[in-house]
Amino acid sequence: MKIQINGISKTFRGGYQALDNIALSFAPGEMVALIGASGSGKSTLLRHISGLIIANANGNDIRAGEHVVQANGVLGRHIRQLRSEIGFVFQQFNLVGRLPVLTNVLTGGIARIPLWRSCFRIFTKEEKALGLAALARVGIAEHAYKRASALSGGQQQRAAIARTIVQKAKVILADEPIASLDPESSRRVMQTLADLNRQDGTTVLVSLHQVDVALRFCPRTVALSRGRVVYDGPSSELTVSMLRDLYGAEAEELLSPAPVSTSLEKPLVDHLSLPTLAAAA
Ligand code: ADP
Ligand code: MG
Repeated sequence: MKIQINGISKTFRGGYQALDNIALSFAPGEMVALIGASGSGKSTLLRHISGLIIANANGNDIRAGEHVVQANGVLGRHIRQLRSEIGFVFQQFNLVGRLPVLTNVLTGGIARIPLWRSCFRIFTKEEKALGLAALARVGIAEHAYKRASALSGGQQQRAAIARTIVQKAKVILADEPIASLDPESSRRVMQTLADLNRQDGTTVLVSLHQVDVALRFCPRTVALSRGRVVYDGPSSELTVSMLRDLYGAEAEELLSPAPVSTSLEKPLVDHLSLPTLAAAA
């Protein structure tokens, strides 16, 4: 599903301008990293795309596929349908800890399941099979009947991704999905998102605090600084000196823990030990 953002600005109550005239377009099947220091506007932008936050009414709009998410400060008519097609993955997983993993995953299909059934958590055999298949796909089928709270952080995040599979999301917006995970869990979660992107053509927009992960998994990077797009292009062309120019002192926040001691003009990918997906493809 294509996403088009046409000149969105957001001023929060109190007068803080978190987004300043953002114009971006994402083609169906792209996997894009959204990077930027804390407070640069990553979460705010993702929340606008899913219609969780309304932008300033200044004549601009956000479109997903054929429909309007929001225009001129008002949600579009098809927002319910759009929300069911846009999966959101949060840093803190957003699972109900006391409920089984499978139940959590099946609530992803909630837009299609009559309300009374989802309230009582009665799922059909077919729905359960769909949920189990989604869990198998993200590699945690054996945990389906455990409470969500019994899983590790990385497993919970993969359950959250399985929920977007059940939801049949055409777009996944992931807001710092690996911020609270160890490196190995982070790698698995990013790989799971990349697999969905490559195998199903799901458009994936993932905000990341650290640029090295963006380089490994996302062919394109959009960099925000103080609510503005300061870079939009191939991840492979980002260099350490470019990031230092764009971000000043904030650059160190994005660059750690990539080793950056040498050859500042070389593409950042050359500083990393793993090949990027783009390079591997
Ligand atoms: P990031 O996700 O890149 O860390 P955010 O999008 O969360 O940044 O925040 C961007 C800026 O907007 C920050 O300065 C933040 O304090 C401010 N902000 C975010 N949400 C609100 C809100 N609901 N009310 C007021 N200010 C907000
Ligand atoms: Mg954020």
